Amino acid sequence: MNQQAPSPDPATPYRVLARKYRPLTFSGLIGQDAMVRTLTNAIELDRLAHAYLLTGVRGVGKTTTARIIARALNCIGADGKGGPTPDPCGVCEHCVAITEDRHMDVLEMDAASRTGVDDIRELIAGTSYRPVSARYKVYIVDEVHMLSGAAFNALLKTLEEPPEHVKFIFATTEARKIPVTVLSRCQRFDLRRVGAETLASHLADIAAKEEADIGQRALALIARAADGSVRDALSLLDQAFAHGAAGDAQGGIDEDQVRAMLGLADRTRIFDLFEAVMKGEIKQALEILEEQHDAGADAAIVLSDLLELTHWLTRVNIAPEVADDISVPEAERVRGKKFAEGLAMPVLARAWQMLLKGLAEAQRAPNPLQAAEMVLVRIAYAAELPAPAEIVKSLQQTGQQTGQQTGEAPMPAEPKPVVNVPPAPASPGASLALSPEPAPVPETAAPEKVEPEPAADTPPRPDAPGPASFADVVELFAAKREAVLQGHLLSEVHLVHFEPGRIEFRPGAHAPRDLANRMGELLSRWTGERWVVSVSAETGAPSLAEQAEGARRKRRKKAAGHPLVRAALKTFPGAKITEVRDIAPPAAPPADGDGDAGSGTPEREDGKG
Ligand SMILES: [Zn+2]
Repeated sequence: MNQQAPSPDPATPYRVLARKYRPLTFSGLIGQDAMVRTLTNAIELDRLAHAYLLTGVRGVGKTTTARIIARALNCIGADGKGGPTPDPCGVCEHCVAITEDRHMDVLEMDAASRTGVDDIRELIAGTSYRPVSARYKVYIVDEVHMLSGAAFNALLKTLEEPPEHVKFIFATTEARKIPVTVLSRCQRFDLRRVGAETLASHLADIAAKEEADIGQRALALIARAADGSVRDALSLLDQAFAHGAAGDAQGGIDEDQVRAMLGLADRTRIFDLFEAVMKGEIKQALEILEEQHDAGADAAIVLSDLLELTHWLTRVNIAPEVADDISVPEAERVRGKKFAEGLAMPVLARAWQMLLKGLAEAQRAPNPLQAAEMVLVRIAYAAELPAPAEIVKSLQQTGQQTGQQTGEAPMPAEPKPVVNVPPAPASPGASLALSPEPAPVPETAAPEKVEPEPAADTPPRPDAPGPASFADVVELFAAKREAVLQGHLLSEVHLVHFEPGRIEFRPGAHAPRDLANRMGELLSRWTGERWVVSVSAETGAPSLAEQAEGARRKRRKKAAGHPLVRAALKTFPGAKITEVRDIAPPAAPPADGDGDAGSGTPEREDGKG
């Protein structure tokens, strides 16, 4: 049986796929099984409604379905003797004329362009005449919700007492705009968005019929981009064929070409970008983003891809077998597993939150590329900061390099330390040691000397109004990778006075002579405001490192007095307290304090995002 329109001979001009493969029978409709079953039964049992309402998003096949119904009602079969059938023959005069849009008794009207009551009166006037040649006069009214109130009222009279030989088929994307009085007189079908997998296999069928060489993953990308619309999917497939024809013909159409066509970023580069951001390699990250943008990728879609990757890595982190899914290319599986192993859950959750918020910003921003850049800068800075639990630990290790490593005492839960200064990770010259916990970033175990200036050109962090405390100043130096200076700030600065814009301190014995000058200069540059930093003769406060050490000693003393610890020391002669750690559960990610993503648990994103 003839399921599809006949292929054109080579002389006819190219027809778009959506027209060429427009289904002519119910069985050719994809993804609408429930509707097809109901309609088939109704036709077979001769229980036909007078009016049908087809609803659904654009491109799911409403008009196509309307025409199939028109054919089904009017088909007389190849021998000219048949009755209404769910399987119109496709060859009788009625089937052919309807297919070619030239049947006298099948009238299509677009309500979007003819909304007035006069238009509908004209249409209704025609219903009193018998069909010219067909069994039924079929009125197909597209975008019916556009009709005026008066037009609906005029229509309603006919719907209440429709002539036997008349059928109405209404199509709309917005059923809720149709008066209930009209709705109640129609048999309604909701056409579903076609699932991406169904769509992809439909595309594969068509590609095979067209003898086009296009990969599965390329088709999957098109199906995803079409978002449930068959028409959109076919028109994208048209474009992909055109791209393939324009490009080098023998390789077929691959995923990369389709990505470029759809404005999607190169998948490998998304991995590269993610890696650069998580390593805090801002400059490289911005270069990749710019390169992808230049290649046609939408900046917001790049963020959305990063979000999707973060979600996937989180799932791999929880259940490594997720990465074994064979639909994921081998290279990605291997790389993804490695990433997921190297990234701690709080780091992934923090990245997810920041991306989610950043994506919304980029979608609203007048310049999405700039917005996306700022998002990457923020995440990269945050990625450099250890998780809060590690900050505490690092502070406790300050000045303890010569400490004894004999044993470890149990640690009673303790309040937060007096200062909260995140150290730069493994910065040369800094006096802080990185904690031995799994590094928040893959492959940062032995970073080389970082150029001290890479962040200098980037504007101040949008979410940081400027340091509000000396601890903030130290944090800023860490974020700007001024690791050596940061070390001096921690151990050589005895604060005498602090207010935003003005710092007075007594330098420690090992402070460089120009410390005050350099602090003032860098702070002024980074914040865009004038900072005056001066040296004072007053004693000032203990340095942050001393404060941390003091707090640590206090905690150790307190811990030593704890009955449990005393018992442990007694039980294990020779044991010493080397470290007191807070074992309270790690706090929520400190990034972007809005907490807008709720618990921070990644949730599956809908559709193409
Ligand atoms: Zn027929």
